[in-house]
Amino acid sequence: MTDAGNSTDSHFVRATFSIPVGEGALQASAQLPAGNTTLTQLLPIIQNLENAIVGKVAEEAAQAGRPISCRAGCGACCRQMVPVSLFEAEALIEWMQSLPEERQTDLAERFHRALLALRDAGVIDSILDERWTLEEERATQLAIDYFRAGVPCPFLEDESCSIHPIRPLSCREYLVTSPPALCQDPSVHQVAGVQLPLKLSRAMFAFGQRMEHDRRGWVPLVFLMAWRKSGAKPGDFVSGSGEEVFRKFLEQVASVARSGDDSNTESTRAAGEKSAR
Ligand code: SF4
Repeated sequence: MTDAGNSTDSHFVRATFSIPVGEGALQASAQLPAGNTTLTQLLPIIQNLENAIVGKVAEEAAQAGRPISCRAGCGACCRQMVPVSLFEAEALIEWMQSLPEERQTDLAERFHRALLALRDAGVIDSILDERWTLEEERATQLAIDYFRAGVPCPFLEDESCSIHPIRPLSCREYLVTSPPALCQDPSVHQVAGVQLPLKLSRAMFAFGQRMEHDRRGWVPLVFLMAWRKSGAKPGDFVSGSGEEVFRKFLEQVASVARSGDDSNTESTRAAGEKSAR
């Protein structure tokens, strides 16, 4: 964070900062809560930042004659295992709890059906056998098996994301420039995935890894309802004033940018995407 202060509202602090994106940097500003907050509560700001990164990359791709081909109504990639940071999981659970009872029941049934279908396809056992988190080959195979099970994300409705404004960071980061039809099976077709120079999801996963001493630091989206039963409140572990929490986030982003860490998380979202890059 390069500067913070000059608030026009005592409840907020305006911060300007830059984050490393590839060879350059993205200049941005945000209104941070002046009082106590959590990393989970800062998610809207982080999502906006991710959108700015993705927008910049999309613009560069278009200028290079390779426009992004992802469109509303195409949910082909929404049949993959989606990694969700613990903080996003917390926010999604809170959001779901705010919905009318009927909608909550509908979503719970969708998650249940997805888990049953994945169980029948033998994928749940593979996810629970955590050796895939250590071995690239297993991670890629799991990604392929998950995709081939053809189980849509519980939030996918009419091939569109029903939670588009609050969808996970990893969903925002998945972009292709090849014809959408090829995404029907990215493990077979040469899907041209776009490699983002920086993925903010990785910074969020890193917080989760530190918190839980877990190799992944995220949960598969389809396990959201099961994770909810733990009653976990990860945001409480990264809390303080808005400036403090956001500064920690920016430090983690810088660390991720330096390490270029993608680990096996990459394989879980995009089996074929890997071979296409
Ligand atoms: S959350 Fe939305 S974008 Fe992400 S996989 Fe599910 S339906 Fe697709």
